[in-house]
Amino acid sequence: MLHSMVSFMLVAALTFVSGTSTYGQVVEGAQVQLEKQQPSLSVSPASTYPGDVIFVRSKEAQTVTLFSQSYPLQPSQGEYTRFIPIPFNAKPGSYQVQSADKKLSVSLTISPKKFEVDSITVSQKMNQMRQDTARINADQKKINAARAASAKSAYFDGPFKQPAIGKLTTPFGYQRVVNGVPANRHAAIDIANKTGTPIWASNHGKVVLADSLYLTGNTIIIDHGLNVFSIYAHMSKLEVKTGQEVKQGQVIGQMGTTGFSTGPHLHYGMLIGNTYVNPQPFFEASPFLWK
Ligand SMILES: [Zn+2]
Repeated sequence: MLHSMVSFMLVAALTFVSGTSTYGQVVEGAQVQLEKQQPSLSVSPASTYPGDVIFVRSKEAQTVTLFSQSYPLQPSQGEYTRFIPIPFNAKPGSYQVQSADKKLSVSLTISPKKFEVDSITVSQKMNQMRQDTARINADQKKINAARAASAKSAYFDGPFKQPAIGKLTTPFGYQRVVNGVPANRHAAIDIANKTGTPIWASNHGKVVLADSLYLTGNTIIIDHGLNVFSIYAHMSKLEVKTGQEVKQGQVIGQMGTTGFSTGPHLHYGMLIGNTYVNPQPFFEASPFLWK
């Protein structure tokens, strides 16, 4: 069942602070002050980093522009919303998120962030795995199909939960170097623990892929709605099926080292559509309450 955001929206008042709109305090009962007359456009958080994500919402604007790019918003619960990923190569500075008609505008600050280099050494045999482009492309088709559509309402309302207990071995955004050769950026987090360690859904959602893939091994993708997806890779065992709805904290599989992996760990990523974003802000607070 989809989690209703109606009660949240009734108590959330939008306030404007010197050209930048932010959420006001969530107030209860008789103190509710909905500023219905005020045109609204908000972006949260108002200060972000390359690789992170912002949440845009408006009562009026159906399209916004940022980085000279146009982003249609989606109707959701009486307003228009969209998560927009901030590219890794976004230049730090001050930007405007504007409605297409330029009547509404809010500022967005992108601060610099340093991403470390992470060198790993793998066997020649394992390294050759990455050259089987036919299998990799076939899997990518499955992955893209799973993420092609997302529920129009959020399944979640609260913050996301770390999907397993273990040691954070590779943080988000590290530049990977495999056997001395620069490889893809590690746009996910790695949590290492023993094989068989339970892995649970980081939030409510619907399983859109539960399959054994070539590089990511036993893999699950969960649609959380509003184009937000989480991915879980290298599992030893899958315990849910495609199409199944899951609750936050429900066990979906077990930690393993299947696919392109050097030891038991969970590779956990969060995506907006097909773009990986930093999961950390989702763990810290509900995206609807990002400041
Ligand atoms: Zn990983």
